[in-house]
Amino acid sequence: MAILDMAARLSPGIRAFTIDTGRLPEQTYDLMAEVERGYGIRVEIVFPDFREVEAMVALHGPNVFYASVPQRMLCCEIRKVQPLARKLSTLDAWVTGLRREQSEDRRHVRKVEIDEAHGSIVKLNPLADWSAHRVEDYNQEHRVPRHALYAEGYASIGCGPCTRPVRAGEDLRAGRWWWETDVRKECGIHFSPQGEARREVDILLEELEIAS
Ligand code: SF4
Repeated sequence: MAILDMAARLSPGIRAFTIDTGRLPEQTYDLMAEVERGYGIRVEIVFPDFREVEAMVALHGPNVFYASVPQRMLCCEIRKVQPLARKLSTLDAWVTGLRREQSEDRRHVRKVEIDEAHGSIVKLNPLADWSAHRVEDYNQEHRVPRHALYAEGYASIGCGPCTRPVRAGEDLRAGRWWWETDVRKECGIHFSPQGEARREVDILLEELEIAS
């Protein structure tokens, strides 16, 4: 939201998109509506391929993500990673809110990168060196609309069934897929699963094609 606010001030015609996984909390839709009202920006919404979602749910049930890490990654792959890739294939550059202090995986994020995973387009991470306090200060100073779940202790907000508030002293992303331990708290959008994990997701995807 801080980036959106800055971008809207610099360039009123800025484009914003989000992925509607089909499992977002109600408060996220409220925030999208507030953005559209407050900034006059029509948020472009990207959806997953309904046939893949149907095949996954038919084979694994609606809450596949609780069954195992590979099945959770399968859900993220279908509901987030593939729709994002489809959207980015139409763009030359994108801007994200990745920050180095958010997690170990994000510690080496650079402000300007070539996004090799998405056709070598430009990826800008202008808040890479910002702390959570700096973001908070900016948002307060500029009265940036705030996701309602922050007031309930959430520090990182994704899909409803996969996000919980964090406790004092926990990592900012500890509330994401909280039932998983010793696993990267990533969905695959910014950091792709490697090696064995990637193979397991590919096998699950192939099973869906057989089932569909
Ligand atoms: S965060 Fe959860 S519900 Fe959302 S796409 Fe990933 S596994 Fe599925």
